Amino acid sequence: MDLLGSITDFQPYTEQESVAKKRLISLIKQYQHQILDRDCEAGHITCSGMILSPDLQKTLMAYHLIYQSVGWIGGHADGDPDLLSVALREAREETSVKEVYPISGKILSLDALPVPEHEKHGKIVPAHTHYNITYGLIAPENQKIADKPDENKNVQWISIAKIPEYCTESHMIPIYQKIISRMQDIQAQKSKILPEIVTPLLSWYQEHKRDLPWRKDTDPYHVWISEIMLQQTRVEAVKNYYTRFLNALPDVRSLAECPEEKLLKLWEGLGYYNRVRNMQKTAKILMTEHQGKFPENYDKIRALPGIGDYTAGAVCSICFGMPTPAVDGNVLRVMARIREDFRNILDQKLKSGLTAQLAGIYTPENSNSLTQALMELGAVICIPNGKPDCKNCPLQEICMAKANSSTALLPVRMKKSKHKIQKKTVFIFIAGNPEQNPESCRIAIRKRPESGLLAGLWELPNL
Ligand code: SF4
Repeated sequence: MDLLGSITDFQPYTEQESVAKKRLISLIKQYQHQILDRDCEAGHITCSGMILSPDLQKTLMAYHLIYQSVGWIGGHADGDPDLLSVALREAREETSVKEVYPISGKILSLDALPVPEHEKHGKIVPAHTHYNITYGLIAPENQKIADKPDENKNVQWISIAKIPEYCTESHMIPIYQKIISRMQDIQAQKSKILPEIVTPLLSWYQEHKRDLPWRKDTDPYHVWISEIMLQQTRVEAVKNYYTRFLNALPDVRSLAECPEEKLLKLWEGLGYYNRVRNMQKTAKILMTEHQGKFPENYDKIRALPGIGDYTAGAVCSICFGMPTPAVDGNVLRVMARIREDFRNILDQKLKSGLTAQLAGIYTPENSNSLTQALMELGAVICIPNGKPDCKNCPLQEICMAKANSSTALLPVRMKKSKHKIQKKTVFIFIAGNPEQNPESCRIAIRKRPESGLLAGLWELPNL
């Protein structure tokens, strides 16, 4: 969103904010982006983050040398119109915390703050006004924190109840308190949202679900095969494979007894051959230990080869009506947007917490449809790459990311480590003379180990 747009969208809560907003909009119109520079004499934009702990009970503040008081963390926009990024950047620079994320993309306060004449880096800075935009930020407490020399000292967590004891700028205390109370409101809204999605999502699903071959029944064998095929492969591509596979291997027994060559042929084109090898191992276990059927028990299904949390959750909820959500990238994306959750969706703890919360809205009656409706919404409406189809979304009235114009920023994915690049020397051994008699030449290939990357496939020898 452009600078003027994001300021215009801010809904003032108080008369003071309303006045500050009008004044800032008129300055933006007059000075355009110069208002982002600290030498704009008419006043300029600064950004702050009210940083709270995840339980909203403590705030991370610093003693500011200019104001000689403990206060929030912030700084000048310095030409950057992405004000949320400025608030995050200042939070990191001024406190050294690494993990900090917004509670919402929404501006929580817009204040015109008078700055007295002061000295900075040996120069006198005349009195001026900061048009300060504030966002609510969350930072886990267990992080290393440090002062930013020349700017602040004593960066510390303090209880929100003790702000008046630490802050000597009395006009700031009500501003801090109003922002904290807005953050509490946002958190309360997030905690209530999940039960509200059930009815609109299920009625949308009944009306709009795609006609897919694996949705014709809830036979666990069928659901399992489709879910394994759909990992890493597009729905359209899976349709034909699924039908052909089931025609050839209609039940657990036929899969368990299928010769490997035939099995790999049926899988040819889907890739990740370990998937089908594990499926056969599972089929054999089902034959020997469970009379050829899936046990109606999440832990037992989860323990079968090649079955992770997602597939176990899908089979148990779709086939057995259990409260076991199947949480994959699609569902994580939908949830991140609905609750405007800026935490890293690649974090395993976030995923398990979300799975447990979603389980709370499952009932034996809705489990099947709810799992499939969440998958469907993520696949066809709340799609990735910042282009969700919000106009056709059944959750558009509820979705916090839509309300706060942050859909393009979500979900947040931060990989811990980068892909490793392996350099290999590859040998081509040819028996015969390819120039004289290419037809009779033979080339050496070898089989890869039975576990690990591209397990059991053939390759040119390499070091
Ligand atoms: S309103 Fe938009 S962002 Fe929100 S859940 Fe629906 S499609 Fe996704």
